Amino acid sequence: MPRMLSKSQVLASRQCQRRLWLEVHRPELRDIDSAMLQRLRQGHRLEKVAHALHPDGVLIGRDIPLHKALQATADHLQRIPYTPLFEATFSAHQVLVRADMIRQTDAGRTLTEIKSSTRVKPYHLIDCAIQHWVIDAAGYPVSKTLLAHIDRRFHYRGDDDYAGLLRHVDVSERVEALQREVPQWVVAGLDTLDMPKEPAIDVGPHCTDPMACPFRHHCQPDGTEYPVNLLPGGGHIVAQLQAEGIADVRDIPEGRLHKVLQERVRIATISGRPYVGQAIGATLRTLPYPRYYLDFETTQFAVPRWPDTRPYEQLPFQWSCHIEPEAGELGHAQFLDTTGESPMRACAQSLLDALGDTGPVFTYSPFEKTVIHRLATRFPDLGPRLRSLAERLYDLLPLIRAHYYHPAMKGSYSIKAVLPTIAADLNHEALGDVHDGVGAQIAYEELIGKTTGLSSKASLADALRRYCALDTLAMVEIVRFFEPANSARN
Ligand code: SF4
Repeated sequence: MPRMLSKSQVLASRQCQRRLWLEVHRPELRDIDSAMLQRLRQGHRLEKVAHALHPDGVLIGRDIPLHKALQATADHLQRIPYTPLFEATFSAHQVLVRADMIRQTDAGRTLTEIKSSTRVKPYHLIDCAIQHWVIDAAGYPVSKTLLAHIDRRFHYRGDDDYAGLLRHVDVSERVEALQREVPQWVVAGLDTLDMPKEPAIDVGPHCTDPMACPFRHHCQPDGTEYPVNLLPGGGHIVAQLQAEGIADVRDIPEGRLHKVLQERVRIATISGRPYVGQAIGATLRTLPYPRYYLDFETTQFAVPRWPDTRPYEQLPFQWSCHIEPEAGELGHAQFLDTTGESPMRACAQSLLDALGDTGPVFTYSPFEKTVIHRLATRFPDLGPRLRSLAERLYDLLPLIRAHYYHPAMKGSYSIKAVLPTIAADLNHEALGDVHDGVGAQIAYEELIGKTTGLSSKASLADALRRYCALDTLAMVEIVRFFEPANSARN
């Protein structure tokens, strides 16, 4: 049996030969993070909608043996070529491809590649070029190649009407221009398969371009605890230091860094002691009670789910708010939609009911302000109250960034990095699967899924509530840590 490459493997080989070798010989080392999982889920949903947009289309299932998929494709193209065919399967020159959609028209055969991104990217053209080359070589010349991507302007009005969701871009010329290169990519991929051991390729910019490689944990050397790339706003200086062979922040010579934050990180990392600016406590003490600590969780769908929404729009489905009526007192309010219906109105209304009319509302990013302003635009009758709520927001992040750094933060000012340095018993990692924003999105989609059982829904809701509540409790802890005079943890 001759060696075969799939289209994905040719793409992997173009990114990095080591990646392809690992995918074939050491797939167990692959580390799929939640962001990758989420992209896959969005892609599957889009595929279904794309199929529904062509109700006359025929699908070659992925669960049938390969020889049957090849035969079914050939039969279809012979008998009913004008009917759209999804997952059409072709093989030639030791490469196997499955085309998202292929159909004959009076002007020739059209290949359509469907992507959940919102624009054409260079690697999409490479993807199409490989398919075009194989399909041509299999005896089915392609005359036109279309890239169908999400149109961000699409306004979903409901009733599963997704006409207009996909924007079709004719990429025929650009794909044609790449045809001469495809044989070289294939030969390089096949050669990589034959390598007796893992190619010696170092990590570098190619590990995240055009996409994050799932083998980064395997390839990243673990000897350096404080790599120079943790410097905030790194970029140019990081590349210079690495080129000079300086891998660890502790080895950066004095006087080498000119940005205040970077120098602060260097000094704190070498000394092992945190930096705490004097102004932080005094600034916090000027803020009155009652105080509120607010965090939203939002979701976004490549394929809009609720009427009156657009692709990838950030839609809030949950909030948590810790409340200090007075110094040392602490209460908690929260909202989580579990219905699966559009959650934004209930989210906005419950927020207004819980947050009163006065008192600072702490957040840990400008994101909450953006969400509240969008809710105000969406629901004009709630607009004035929501806008006045937005006026009360106080973003802690710039204050922390200006006045605090602990070596254990390793260059990150995220709340998840700051919290363990001021409250060792509180840690997002201990939460399990739902410990970051993408994990929360995945859990929420599962929670509102039609096939999810009641007990799974209950445990997903519990995990979401614990996660969001920890984010707002973290803010309480941060404020109390830097303003000890008012501290009295409940
Ligand atoms: S992490 Fe980088 S070096 Fe390692 S396989 Fe992936 S792309 Fe190649």
